[in-house]
Amino acid sequence: MNFVSTRGHAPASSLDDALAAGLAPDGGLYVPAAIPTLEDVAPLPTLAATAQRLLAPYFAGSRLRDALAAMCAEAYAFDAPLRPLAGDGDHALELFHGPTAAFKDYAARFLATALARLHDGDDEDTEIVVATSGDTGAAVAAAFHGRPGFRVTILYPEGRVSPRQAHGLECWGDNVRAFRVAGSFDDCQRMAKAVLADAGLRARRRLTSANSISLGRLLPQMAYYAHASARFHAETGARLGFIVPTGNLGNACAAALAQRMGAPIGPILLACNANDALPRYFGGEDYAAQPTRATLANAMDVGAPSNFERLRHLFGGNDAALRAAIGAVSVDDATIRETIRSAPARHGIVPCPHTATALHALEALRARGDARPWAVVATAHPAKFETIVEPLVGHAVPPPPALAECLARPARGDDLPADDDALRRLLADAPG
Ligand SMILES: *Cc1c(COP(=O)(O)O)cnc(C)c1O
Repeated sequence: MNFVSTRGHAPASSLDDALAAGLAPDGGLYVPAAIPTLEDVAPLPTLAATAQRLLAPYFAGSRLRDALAAMCAEAYAFDAPLRPLAGDGDHALELFHGPTAAFKDYAARFLATALARLHDGDDEDTEIVVATSGDTGAAVAAAFHGRPGFRVTILYPEGRVSPRQAHGLECWGDNVRAFRVAGSFDDCQRMAKAVLADAGLRARRRLTSANSISLGRLLPQMAYYAHASARFHAETGARLGFIVPTGNLGNACAAALAQRMGAPIGPILLACNANDALPRYFGGEDYAAQPTRATLANAMDVGAPSNFERLRHLFGGNDAALRAAIGAVSVDDATIRETIRSAPARHGIVPCPHTATALHALEALRARGDARPWAVVATAHPAKFETIVEPLVGHAVPPPPALAECLARPARGDDLPADDDALRRLLADAPG
């Protein structure tokens, strides 16, 4: 299978080259040249088996083709249960059972196992530079920690992540370094982009990113939607809709791709925080990036969702078709708080602030009489955001075992000014 750029000015690329490159040379995002169709959508026993079935057509012709089963077994080593909510027959798709208690673990682990296999036998180290608002950095660090041939440099905005998120970024050591940047997430992202685009530096060191535009993160995120919807469809005959907490639009874009491949997925609704570029677009306005606003759901604080270009391309650039297939809502901080406070009694769960946006969207649909089956996508464990969640629900929220283990390790990060040259020097000086 070949991959083309959303901007149409780059040559078609093999999967292996697209995985290694991240961004297409014309600045666009890689998308499959054609969307393959699943012949069989009957449920399979494991998430890993479902992942393998979905990914196989994309890996035809890849050097990794014969390793795909082993890669899926490694990346999807923990489940993504579809948990019934108390009351109305609604569900939560729990994506927080991995090592850093957020959905990004699945794709980060898949990307790591793929790059490690492509890298095998190569003696030059690869430096992964990742700007994070909290969850991406931890998932990438966990996935690459201890892998020979890779080093990870994490940049995160000081004071803008939860204390447990900060610990989860700084607890790795060895081949992982974490830097507290005196600035915003946008500063971190600008610095990462600047070094990744620096030809002089790239001539001396092999640098790559691991952000949500990478195909190696997009494709593996299809698996849990296909897996949950196939089981639901087999049991009920109905297509399960998903309400996806959305920031950069990577996770929801994967749901849309799995749907287009034929997985029995119902409607897709994007739940955004106060950053409302997508709700404005889906409400009929022209797409326009907005300045980023800080909210309680910090992993979704994105003013210009980087995968929008890819989602639009999946619908052939047809805005009417895209708006007919997908909707989006914006949920403000006061509503996030109120949803977290009432969720234990109403739904029998404690949601994280991101999951709360989806839960509120579900409540609004039900209040309007919507009777379709929906699952809210639970993107992170609430214990990661204890300073927000615990005062609202009135009790301690203990971290799951993998997160507890990481919190028990010592943390170590360094300070870095929000300055491109500071990062450039740091990477140029690192032992190569
Ligand atoms: C990253 C993240 C999101 C947003 O996912 P996108 O793929 O960027 O839309 C939502 N919730 C949590 C907990 C996250 O870490």
